[in-house]
Amino acid sequence: MKLILLGAPGAGKGTMAKLLTAVDGSVQISTGDILRGAVTAGTALGKQIESLMKSGDLVPDDLIMGIMEQRLQEPDCEKGFLLDGFPRTIPQAEALKDLLERLGIELDMAVNLDVAREVVLDRLTTRRTCSNSECQAIYNVNSNPPRQEGVCDKCGSSVVQRDDETAEAISHRLETYAEKTAPLIGFYEREGLLLNVDAAGPSETVLAAISARLGTS
Ligand code: ADP
Ligand code: ZN
Repeated sequence: MKLILLGAPGAGKGTMAKLLTAVDGSVQISTGDILRGAVTAGTALGKQIESLMKSGDLVPDDLIMGIMEQRLQEPDCEKGFLLDGFPRTIPQAEALKDLLERLGIELDMAVNLDVAREVVLDRLTTRRTCSNSECQAIYNVNSNPPRQEGVCDKCGSSVVQRDDETAEAISHRLETYAEKTAPLIGFYEREGLLLNVDAAGPSETVLAAISARLGTS
């Protein structure tokens, strides 16, 4: 499958992407994971974006498009991909449309994971992430804690609160979402690609709605 996952920070894009990869072997492409990996590795790119990310600002569109143009041409994308956290602005969505046309790739749909602001706020403040940039497993202190507190079930690295998950950075990310990313819902609706899903409930329900539309259930 070739999907875009839309939704506010904390809507469950990463969680859904991980579940969907298990359906047919499509790869999860998370720009947030790629960028955090660059920051941890201390690459030139990482140094350039570290402070932007920490404060909850977006990384410049041209930088993201450079990363995605390369990433979408890697062989593991042939089976399909789940775009998680990209596109995030109208210019990115327009550039992606051109890029996919050039590469001869057709999207199945853009899924909007719709969750109320209070739910998202609660999820973000209780979210914890594996510190290993190769893993980045996601936990929640209430609903999905690691078996041993502070230790990743999958890789044994420490499980931490992300730098951009302070109350201040979270509210800034939600504002950025409302201003820059929410307009993508209308964009994909006009493209005839939008599937709106109520994502407040359990992830199985969301997965079922997506599978039904794809015809894989
Ligand atoms: P979340 O969806 O939980 O907010 P992500 O892991 O997707 O978090 O992104 C974390 C940060 O990485 C963003 O706040 C932003 O700084 C940067 N980022 C990720 N994807 C993009 C993108 N497509 N365009 C610009 N910045 C991005
Ligand atoms: Zn881990």
